[in-house]
Amino acid sequence: SKPIVAVVGRPNVGKSTLFNTLAGERISIVQDTPGVTRDRIYAEVSWLNYNFTLIDTGGIEPDSKDVILSQMREQAQIAIDTADVIMFLVDVRQGLQDADGKVADMLRRSNKPVVLVVNKVDDFDKYMPDVYEFYNLGIGEPFPVSASSKLGLGDMLDEVVKHF
Ligand code: GDP
Ligand code: MG
Repeated sequence: SKPIVAVVGRPNVGKSTLFNTLAGERISIVQDTPGVTRDRIYAEVSWLNYNFTLIDTGGIEPDSKDVILSQMREQAQIAIDTADVIMFLVDVRQGLQDADGKVADMLRRSNKPVVLVVNKVDDFDKYMPDVYEFYNLGIGEPFPVSASSKLGLGDMLDEVVKHF
């Protein structure tokens, strides 16, 4: 059966935007309000000769006791457990946050291959210096993308399909 790729990360980093861009359709709801995606959402994606199932998740707020946010975290954990490869999304505009480190810890515990994707790099010359700080997550090489401007997606997908 087809490999499953899950998009995870804190709310508002651009997971649903990336999901929609890769799906080629607006399936998932993109909103400025964090945590709008509450259910897992699926799309079939093709890249070169590869076909895979992409899962969007509502986002992970590691320490939240809020009922909805903790349910979202549980849904994300199910997506992580189901996935063959995880796209771990972070936001270059906000920079490295404590919550990113906690998500990284969750992902390490999963023992799944993780591709670190640094989103909102709409201008590579301007934002590349800020991308390197994400090496501190200990997840490996950060892949800069702009989900909304469709930049960097080829290099990122090349890295994802290496793990199939
Ligand atoms: P999610 O909560 O992680 O699913 O994030 P969303 O996809 O809903 O996006 C949150 C906000 O970030 C929205 O206002 C998006 O328009 C914005 N956003 C997403 N991707 C990009 C990007 O590549 N560049 C910029 N500048 N904004 C983005
Ligand atoms: Mg979303």
